Amino acid sequence: MTQPQRPQLVTTRAALKETLQSLSPRSTVGLVMTMGALHAGHLSLVETAREKADYIVVSIFVNPTQFAPGEDFDAYPRQLERDLELLAEVGADLVFAPTPAEIYPHPARVTLDPGPTAKVLEGATRPSHFGGVLQIVHKVINLVHPKVAVFGQKDAQQLALIRQMVEDLDMPVEIVAAPIVREADGLAMSSRNAYLSEAERKLALCLSAALQAGAQAAEAGEGAGAILKAAETVIFEASAAVDSPATLKLDYIALVDGVTFQPVTQGPAVLAIAAKVGNTRLIDNYLVEVK
Ligand code: AMP
Repeated sequence: MTQPQRPQLVTTRAALKETLQSLSPRSTVGLVMTMGALHAGHLSLVETAREKADYIVVSIFVNPTQFAPGEDFDAYPRQLERDLELLAEVGADLVFAPTPAEIYPHPARVTLDPGPTAKVLEGATRPSHFGGVLQIVHKVINLVHPKVAVFGQKDAQQLALIRQMVEDLDMPVEIVAAPIVREADGLAMSSRNAYLSEAERKLALCLSAALQAGAQAAEAGEGAGAILKAAETVIFEASAAVDSPATLKLDYIALVDGVTFQPVTQGPAVLAIAAKVGNTRLIDNYLVEVK
């Protein structure tokens, strides 16, 4: 059997530019931005991008400006060879994997203020995070000039902020959302799942279980308070289980509007959760309808 063809790898802006300039003017470019340590969730974004564009660029870059001091920038898994093999299987054409010095040749003078949506939930716990995210997304979109860029619903608040940036700054790119890909037992796939011990992996399952309980309450026509209670109960029961050596610290469970991330009590909503399992911070969400 022949091996699927690996994507071309470029690590500099100059090589990226040269490759993109060699494409037919008729080809449409799709972009998937990642921090690497790829899993089926990332690969699904590439598949979505292939439905919308005919030349797919995947960026692999652990972006230092979205990590605060003391977060896991140094420990973040880096496995480029394996990532290239996985990307060959889904037909990515080009991988852009620059170094931090290539992307940030000097400290930025001009930065983006992500505004009010970045102040709550993830932004409350990680105040500098979304400024760094929008900075790198803006830069890579400017370097790649894609027609479409695909982002995962897994990072729902990030997705909302990217849409706001594209709209407010008139960026000429279409943003497409892709659904969350989960493990068979429900855990949302994440590169950070690799940090979990066996006991932590088991305990981590209560995040998606809590969201499912909340979604069931929403389906049954319960109000916002009861939806949140149903989800919280799953977390409290799981963290009280005495025989587990793993620990869970809930950061938030919230029912929010998918654009502003402010609390909602009616209509379409994001039921979002974040918790630390051991030292690993995990996030997940379900889209629900509050009747
Ligand atoms: P990351 O490498 O974690 O920065 O994620 C890169 C992109 O993949 C982002 O748009 C994420 O939202 C998306 N992503 C991460 N995990 C999943 C998942 N389990 N399902 C779908 N998309 C995901």
